[in-house]
Amino acid sequence: MKTPMKTKDKREDRFEAVIGLEVHAQLRTKSKIFCGCSTQFVSEENVHVCPVCAGLPGTLPVLNRKAVDFAIKMALAVHCQIKETSVFARKNYFYPDLTKGYQISQYDQPLAEEGWVEIQTDHQSKKIRIQRVHMEEDAGKNVHGKRGSYVNLNRAGIPLIEIVSYPDLATAGEASQFLKKLRSVLRYTGVSDGNMEEGNLRCDVNVSLRQRADMKLGIRAEVKNINSFRFVEKAIEFEIQRQAEILEGGNQVLQETRLFDANRGETFSMRSKEEAHDYRYFPEPDLISLEIEKSWIEDLRGQLPELPDEKAKRFASQYQLPQYDAALLVQEKELAEYYEEVVNTSHQFKLAKLASNWVLTELLRIVSPDKIETSPVSSKHLGELIQLITSGVISGKIAKTVFEKMMISRQSPKIIVEKEGLRQVSDEGVVIEAVEKVLKERKEEVEKYKNGNEKLFGFFVGQVMKLTEGKANPALVNQILKKKLAEKK
Ligand code: ADP
Ligand code: MG
Ligand code: ZN
Repeated sequence: MKTPMKTKDKREDRFEAVIGLEVHAQLRTKSKIFCGCSTQFVSEENVHVCPVCAGLPGTLPVLNRKAVDFAIKMALAVHCQIKETSVFARKNYFYPDLTKGYQISQYDQPLAEEGWVEIQTDHQSKKIRIQRVHMEEDAGKNVHGKRGSYVNLNRAGIPLIEIVSYPDLATAGEASQFLKKLRSVLRYTGVSDGNMEEGNLRCDVNVSLRQRADMKLGIRAEVKNINSFRFVEKAIEFEIQRQAEILEGGNQVLQETRLFDANRGETFSMRSKEEAHDYRYFPEPDLISLEIEKSWIEDLRGQLPELPDEKAKRFASQYQLPQYDAALLVQEKELAEYYEEVVNTSHQFKLAKLASNWVLTELLRIVSPDKIETSPVSSKHLGELIQLITSGVISGKIAKTVFEKMMISRQSPKIIVEKEGLRQVSDEGVVIEAVEKVLKERKEEVEKYKNGNEKLFGFFVGQVMKLTEGKANPALVNQILKKKLAEKK
């Protein structure tokens, strides 16, 4: 029988997607790459512009040392070889927002080559190789208004690094994982804020298909300038389907540059693919080659923090956490630090898994991982809350209520528990009284239970908890209920 599902399966058996990413990240320098203009984001147009970044003739670029520091740091963090000599090159093309008529980039002698990062795929890790990391300047922005089009040069000359992967990615999911990993490393190293909404991190995705058995790569399409993880996935999925249809029809995929239309979830052709020679690359005559001494590199290597992969390994062993928890906890440096503070406050390393559950579920429900510093619940207070649970002062269920209250009042859980009388009732007499009351009121269910419907045990527990407003110690309730029900049998 032919079902749509079947045809899709067949297609995936026949074709294999090959994906490579070119990732652009804005470096976190205070000034632009070749002049002293500020890199600060302002809504007013053409505030941060000077003759150099406006591209006026007769001006000369001067390389920003801090931008090189950042670029080297990132290259080291993704295990690249830093080249002793690298060369800036002119990439010539005309755009209204590129007033110089060329972009200063690096071409055949990039800053760094041959690195890798690791991503997780279905319980396995996979190394994605990095071809190169190079530095370049950003262009300005065209603004289309009612009375015409204008150009805003605030972004012209903003320092970028471009990180180019080998075509080692096989699915949309792998591609977005790869991008997430890069963003995480960019933020750990302080090289870039990775803010995708502001365009400080964006990427071009290259997608081709080939027959599963083929060694040769297929013809690729490149989708430019995507600025969200979801759009990266959508664009790739769309391209895979589009190209599969072309190939199944016996036709050839065009090598071209495309754009992604987020509203329609589709890519569309922008231009046929340009070749390197179209850009008339040549070494930038206004800049000398960039020579990087070993000591400079080692100095920067020494400044690298513990990176997400190392941190995840340490978390897994030191706190006995599942890999899954560790990977989520280390995605942001501040989140990882928050977690460690919670564990330290609760003074109970063996409860690290409980702390992980609270951070990953309750905390991340109220703040996003990259905005932990805005959390209304401090790590110290969450640590105290966990201590209250494990020492039996409150139950896990009441703890959720307390957490809600902590969110609003920002008070310590100890104060909330005392003020609102939320202490767990571990007084046997009180629990026995409640159990007896429930069993007396629920004669019918007790009969059923006696006749073998043991599922009703949970029902009785629920009734006792309800009667005690959730405050009875659940372990004690269980124990006493069992005893009292056994007596009735
Ligand atoms: P450019 O796009 O500037 O011409 P490259 O040719 O070096 O630069 O390739 C850029 C990106 O395209 C890299 O990430 C590379 O992995 C990827 N790529 C190259 N060939 C293919 C292919 N056949 N299918 C998918 N991706 C590819
Ligand atoms: Mg490209
Ligand atoms: Zn300037």
